[in-house]
Amino acid sequence: MAGDGTVQLIDEKGKRVDGRLKDELRPTEIKIGVVKNADGSAEIRMGKNIIIAAVYGPRELHPKHRALPDRALIQCFYRMSTFSVNDRKSPAPSRREKEISMLLSDALTSVVLTDKYPRTTIDIYIQVIQADGGTRCASLTAASVALADAGVPMRGIIAAVASGLANDIVVLDLFDLEDQKGSGDMPLGYCPTLNEISLLQLDGVFTLEQFDECLDLSIEGAKRLYDIQTNTLKQRYADIRAEVAVDEDDEVKEELKEQLNDEVKEELIEQLKEEPKKEEVKEEPKKEEVKEEPKKEEVKEEPKKEEPKKGDE
Ligand code: UDP
Repeated sequence: MAGDGTVQLIDEKGKRVDGRLKDELRPTEIKIGVVKNADGSAEIRMGKNIIIAAVYGPRELHPKHRALPDRALIQCFYRMSTFSVNDRKSPAPSRREKEISMLLSDALTSVVLTDKYPRTTIDIYIQVIQADGGTRCASLTAASVALADAGVPMRGIIAAVASGLANDIVVLDLFDLEDQKGSGDMPLGYCPTLNEISLLQLDGVFTLEQFDECLDLSIEGAKRLYDIQTNTLKQRYADIRAEVAVDEDDEVKEELKEQLNDEVKEELIEQLKEEPKKEEVKEEPKKEEVKEEPKKEEVKEEPKKEEPKKGDE
């Protein structure tokens, strides 16, 4: 919401109330995989904004008559927590939340390859934990990363930032005070790889030069955000690869253990087999020897007895 421009938001040296220069983004950090139940998720911290986006789907759409025969339906549900702003926000969905949900759904529909999943829905739940201006843009940035994390095929990733007028000077990435007291703001969603604008709103009165400058500044800012998004995604997949490698190592170790166990088992079995054999072998010759000796003696004695009989005759 644009203010009347009477509050001093930028000093003569070009420093803003929070100490940033006109073309500076707020410190931005993105985390991936923060909601374990979701198919994909991301958390963005942009200045004091804290927003979580969780993706579920593609999945069956209820009620079924809302399903689209040729593509998936992208549904964003943007909600501000009651505690996310200074004045407690009503928990009932406001007109503003419904409008933001709709425009985020439209922006993401423009990049998701929806025709790959006809008759399904891809639901993106966006929860604002802490709000400090520019939450729709931060939500769009986080939702794009969450979709990528869910493995949803896309033409590109959207990065979004709002620029506007602080005492008639064009500044990048408005925070709450600038959003409320500045004389204009312009949220922009931009896909750098496609060079496509997927969201553009404007509140306040801009000259043509201011509009052009605002657009250029936001596109530059979106490109920087895009780098953060892609670096975070790359890091995520490097971590997954490392985890898989560790798992594979564990598998190899387990296999080796099993092999060793098998070898030990076989050895034991062999030992058990061998032990009774040795005993039998030792006992057998002894018995034979004992048996054979008297037999030989008996055979030798018999002819001796017969010979004297013949001589006598
Ligand atoms: N805001 C608030 N209460 C509300 C809605 C918004 O205090 O019910 C604050 C919040 O900090 C938000 C800012 O106003 O970020 C600007 O809101 P706007 O509607 O311009 O959307 P945004 O800039 O967050 O996309």
